[in-house]
Amino acid sequence: MTGQANPFESLQSQIDEAADYLDVDADVLERLKHPERVLETNLTIELDDGSLERFEAFRSQFNGDRGPYKGGIRYHPDVNRDEVKALSGWMVYKCATVDIPYGGGKGGIVVDPSEYSEAELERLTRAFAKELRPLVGEDRDIPAPDVNTGQREMNWIKDTYETLENTTEPGVVTGKNLASGGSEGRVEATGRSTVIAAREAFDYLDKDLEGATVAVQGYGNAGWIAAKLIDEMGATVVAASDSSGGIYNADGFDPVAAKEHKNETGSIVGYEESEEELTNEDVLTMDVDLLIPAALENAIDADLAEDVSADVISEAANGPLTPDADAILAEDDVFVIPDILANAGGVTVSYFEWVQNRQRFYWSEKKVNEELEGHIVDAFDALVETIEENDLSNPRTAAYVVAIDRVADAFEEAGSFP
Ligand code: GLU
Repeated sequence: MTGQANPFESLQSQIDEAADYLDVDADVLERLKHPERVLETNLTIELDDGSLERFEAFRSQFNGDRGPYKGGIRYHPDVNRDEVKALSGWMVYKCATVDIPYGGGKGGIVVDPSEYSEAELERLTRAFAKELRPLVGEDRDIPAPDVNTGQREMNWIKDTYETLENTTEPGVVTGKNLASGGSEGRVEATGRSTVIAAREAFDYLDKDLEGATVAVQGYGNAGWIAAKLIDEMGATVVAASDSSGGIYNADGFDPVAAKEHKNETGSIVGYEESEEELTNEDVLTMDVDLLIPAALENAIDADLAEDVSADVISEAANGPLTPDADAILAEDDVFVIPDILANAGGVTVSYFEWVQNRQRFYWSEKKVNEELEGHIVDAFDALVETIEENDLSNPRTAAYVVAIDRVADAFEEAGSFP
């Protein structure tokens, strides 16, 4: 993380930026800038050596005007209250951008999971699920994976919830594995929407994706799948990085083989097709047609933004640009597809998983991918329409205009209680 921006302040400034183009009451907007509630809890679990350790954890329920709160749970040492609040707000506007019937939430535990055994992580996850139990449910709040969590953690949460509630309710969490009621296509969905959105942007800008050069920062679930799918679309992935450093090949490398190298050694660094070792910053400032930031918030701050040379950015991560960086890139005519659209494939297929869970009727991967394509293309079309109607230079502002309008509408139609 190079920038120091507070992500919650970034979220609020993004909303303010869009407000100028919206006919929404100032007091309604004020409501849309703050979470409805935040759970702060402490989880004490027994470690394998018999000692006890306390972990801080949060769940923010930002807004439920369009449906149950929805959003992931991350495990990371940098998790904090403001970050979780921001991430939960981004979920509200993400779900509205792709028009799925959810509000937004997000949770996190302050932990570096690489330092704990699987048994310890299971106890920690189940302890969090116990604290979350009164708040969650398929019509209340539906957690999902985020940074450093995946199917394994979701299966534990589902099992804990169902055991304590003495029920069968797979739709209480999404991102489960298939045997626990997961959906085909969910693991790939975030990377898939990132590249569908990039394809639409290239088309809109009259640029050729075939042979376009691509750099990917972050080689976790979102980044590596995006690299694989964009390569299949005919683009050339020339650079990628993970937390240990980056790799480069001017003629492009095989994203799948690079991932296999990472699985075997823990990092993509040292991958045999790489001609040069790069830093994360080298990857972010590389002269490429498309840049995919796929790691954490604030990867690009104002200083780094001055050196960004990509023409298009598709944000697989949540909040990878600080607001200052965002303004600089908009001025430089870099077309930034905002996180709340680019990475919305994850929550969109979570929605499909929840629908399948509720109906006990499961879809093929083909159907999942077709439905996903429809949601992302429609969201991109609405974005472009709003850019053109308002003569906007920053696509993020356009996405917020669309999304805030939808959330405000739901609030105004329903009225408030009491
Ligand atoms: N954590 C993902 C996100 O930030 C997915 C959330 C979900 O599927 O609910 O969008």
